[in-house]
Amino acid sequence: MEIPNFRATIKSAAAQVGFDLCGIAPASDAPELNHFSEWIAAGHAGEMKYLEARDDAGDLKRASLARVAPWARSVIVCAINYNTGHPYSTEVKDPNRGWISRYAWSQEDYHDAVLRRLKLIEDRLRNLVPAERQAELITRAYVDTGPIVERVFAKYAGIGWIGKNTCLINQKKGSWLFLGVILTSLDLEPDLPAPDRCGTCTRCIQACPTDAILAPYQLDSNKCIAYLTIEKRGSIPEDLREGMGRHIFGCDICQDVCPWNRKAPQTAPTEFEPRAGLVNPALAWLAEMSEEQFRQTFRRSPIRRAKRSGIRRNAAIAMGNSGDPSFLPVLEQLSADEEESIAESARWAKERLQKL
Ligand code: SF4
Ligand code: SF4
Repeated sequence: MEIPNFRATIKSAAAQVGFDLCGIAPASDAPELNHFSEWIAAGHAGEMKYLEARDDAGDLKRASLARVAPWARSVIVCAINYNTGHPYSTEVKDPNRGWISRYAWSQEDYHDAVLRRLKLIEDRLRNLVPAERQAELITRAYVDTGPIVERVFAKYAGIGWIGKNTCLINQKKGSWLFLGVILTSLDLEPDLPAPDRCGTCTRCIQACPTDAILAPYQLDSNKCIAYLTIEKRGSIPEDLREGMGRHIFGCDICQDVCPWNRKAPQTAPTEFEPRAGLVNPALAWLAEMSEEQFRQTFRRSPIRRAKRSGIRRNAAIAMGNSGDPSFLPVLEQLSADEEESIAESARWAKERLQKL
């Protein structure tokens, strides 16, 4: 279905519902999607099996939008800034406290905050299509959960470029952006892809504590602290624990050091303001959290993904990296935890502190 003058209406609807950026990409398969297939084949996705979802023919769903949504003609990509006025992880030097990734602090789960807004744009689209053509209109809104590599379409929608740290970066807004997409059967005139502005910079590669950025634009999730702290179940490989530092959930380092985030603006919506205690959280608080406290603290929060056992395991490792022997009593307790990954991490941490 080709309907003229939709672009401007969609973009103004996106601004009205609170998105900072909105662009339109063609629903065609970009070359970056081949890289995605190669990345999966190299095992760089670790245990994130959802990224390897395949169709009946055995092909990766995320590698071809044409295969999973042959009706789609355009992809509307929206982005919202979640940067709140709190220091970057690289500016806070307190090893006795942990670090939770900036995106996960928020009052409202970003999936809900973004999807709610996308639905409003979908409604607006539907209202714009004449009654006799409603049956032809198909739209699907996704935040992280769709069969689509959002940042690739964000690039072709002109939202930003994919940096050497593999994050989507906008020249004016930086990279603290949540992305949401609407696939649509509407034929919309696409925006121009955003040019790469990384230039000769390699700050993110140099700053990564676990050498997870193997080469520019190439991330091995198996080594990335974000993957290790959130997605990895069971024990974390010992050779990566020291590099994890005080990270409890996610890692912001390669974005904190990015020059394009130096003057990143602050977000306007209040729902991305942090919940109490999540900026620089106390390690002992996290390690000793009961099931009920965990449920209350992280209700409708992306942090639930790591599960209580993952958070306590990560807190034990962070204590081991703190250099502070006052954590020894709590580590002693954790060494007897019924969850083996916690007990084993606590024993590792204890040994590390005792060697000081
Ligand atoms: S998130 Fe952290 S561990 Fe992962 S690539 Fe960036 S700096 Fe490295
Ligand atoms: S730190 Fe430099 S190389 Fe890395 S993403 Fe930012 S601009 Fe690109």
